[in-house]
Amino acid sequence: MNAQYRCPICQSRLVLREKIYRCDLGHCFDKAKEGYVNLLPVQFKHSKQPGDNKAMVNARREFLTQGYYQPLADKLVLILDKLALKKGSILDAGCGEGFYTDQFKQSCHTVYGVDIAKEAIKKAAKKYKHCHFSVATLSQLPFDDHSINAVVSIYAPILPIEFDRILTTNGYLITVTPGKNHLLSLKQKIYQHALLHDEDKVPVDNMVLLEQQQLTYKMILKTGNDVLNLLSMTPFAFKADENVTQQLSQQSDFACQADFIIRIYKKTA
Ligand SMILES: [Zn+2]
Repeated sequence: MNAQYRCPICQSRLVLREKIYRCDLGHCFDKAKEGYVNLLPVQFKHSKQPGDNKAMVNARREFLTQGYYQPLADKLVLILDKLALKKGSILDAGCGEGFYTDQFKQSCHTVYGVDIAKEAIKKAAKKYKHCHFSVATLSQLPFDDHSINAVVSIYAPILPIEFDRILTTNGYLITVTPGKNHLLSLKQKIYQHALLHDEDKVPVDNMVLLEQQQLTYKMILKTGNDVLNLLSMTPFAFKADENVTQQLSQQSDFACQADFIIRIYKKTA
């Protein structure tokens, strides 16, 4: 099925013809050769290259394909299967290079991935051909009201009002946020007094919290390169000076805790 997008400028339906998405008012968005579409008009950009840059995207791809976060992907697929969305549509909001997005295809017919980082979307679209990827801002998603059955947000900004707008009645929001021990041993290499993650949830007042689960397990990062790749995915990467980076690059079999909080919300009428 073709992707169903709406125009980010005038909100009318986009129709794909000869590799160009067009709306009734004549706003046009080219389908890139990798298969994604850039629906982030220049006036919506707050910086020249918003989101992760190419090096960060590459590090992320390299880390994720090692399987360190596969238990999280498996868990999410299990949850989505239970929600019985086979014929529906899922949006991975803030999908990055598409590692999880691709796996959601097992649970659902139509899977979208949106991210503001063009480099990430380009890489996602190139590898995962069965999903629909677009560059867009999460605060103005390129989808019609009530058109998506489930939104998944993994370590990405949670925007309850916008998610609510695009969700169907009885649609679901699944969020993944860090548990308090997430990557603690890595943090301890960076900070003298590493604080535990704040588990307080982002308020999602407009939906009902159905369930909260914790997924925690120990990872053994095989090489220093794996450690550095993981570090670059964290918000504290910029705190690591050259000495620390050098030290981390020489680690092998570095033990590190993964600690995820998964919440399942349901939209009510
Ligand atoms: Zn338009």
